[in-house]
Amino acid sequence: MVKIATYASHSALQILKGAKDEGFETIAFGKSRVRPLYTKYFPVADYFLEGEYPEEELLKLDAIVIPTGSFVAHLGIELVERMRVPYFGNKKVLRWESDRNLERKWLEEAKLKLPRVYEDPDEIDAPVIVKPHGAKGGRGYFIAKDSRDFWEKAERFLGIKDKEDLKSVQIQEYIVGVPVYPHYFYSKIREELELMSIDRRYESNVDAIGRIPSKDQLELDLDVTYTVIGNIPIVLRESLLMDVIEAGERVVKASEKLMGGLWGPFCLEGVFTPDLNFVVFEISARIVAGTNLFINGSPYTWLKYGEPMSTGRRIAREIKIAIEEDKLDEVVT
Ligand code: AMP
Ligand code: AMP
Repeated sequence: MVKIATYASHSALQILKGAKDEGFETIAFGKSRVRPLYTKYFPVADYFLEGEYPEEELLKLDAIVIPTGSFVAHLGIELVERMRVPYFGNKKVLRWESDRNLERKWLEEAKLKLPRVYEDPDEIDAPVIVKPHGAKGGRGYFIAKDSRDFWEKAERFLGIKDKEDLKSVQIQEYIVGVPVYPHYFYSKIREELELMSIDRRYESNVDAIGRIPSKDQLELDLDVTYTVIGNIPIVLRESLLMDVIEAGERVVKASEKLMGGLWGPFCLEGVFTPDLNFVVFEISARIVAGTNLFINGSPYTWLKYGEPMSTGRRIAREIKIAIEEDKLDEVVT
């Protein structure tokens, strides 16, 4: 009997709870310290295996691994690509997502509104956000107001002095607007996109700076950082819902053309500007932790399901339907 497994962090509580609600046995694997979190304080895991990725045990238990940001970050893309335990989703998206140039090509193909990217820092003529490759969760990003400011900070923060070394950073136009992160689920079996929920991130210190009077902000000479601490739920103005739904549909179409499809959960990360444009700066091609707000369902899943439906539970339901219809091979890679 197939069991649902995931790495013990990020959104594992939600994924395993959802799997149990759909009648599966569950496995968490990871650091021994967190065993009680998944077996005692929140008893969602029937098995707890120690280790980053105990492949042989997972194979023996007939596990399907649900990838999360933590799993991919801890294992690294090469290992994930080579893993033998069935993986829910399309592994081909990993390359597209982890390379900022490919990711941009993907989002362009989907005809999303994107921030301008500056190839040459000497052309910076508006505020920019600078993203070193591999910077996690916004840690290591900085903002610059013009090219002089850019070069000064690039040297201070990254030790970069000339253009040769700039391959490792992307310089994006800084979009002033409110952050909105819609969570989607694309069912490959039903060929249907669902809007699951929406969050915004609670980021330190950028969400703290507004608590300091502007006079003091200037005196303190603060630099902003974007380290994720938690998530805040959002319901969107109803007249904007079609905008995010259509953006999701176009991403699924573009994925079919570029890498053989994107199925299961994914998230677009962007901001809504004052003139109501949804500008997207990133895609996460798997469950995002912002869905943890909605373990008991969101306003949107309530409209569709009329029963508590989290993204984690939706994944398990997809696997259940795939098994019933003898299509499991279509949703795991
Ligand atoms: P962790 O297992 O908490 O170290 O998280 C692994 C990765 O997932 C990190 O790169 C985080 O940036 C991302 N992540 C973890 N929790 C959240 C969250 N609540 N919201 C957004 N991203 C998150
Ligand atoms: P990311 O790692 O791309 O998800 O970005 C981390 C955080 O930086 C986001 O949650 C936003 O708060 C902020 N951010 C990223 N890109 C932009 C942008 N182009 N304009 C404004 N804010 C951004």
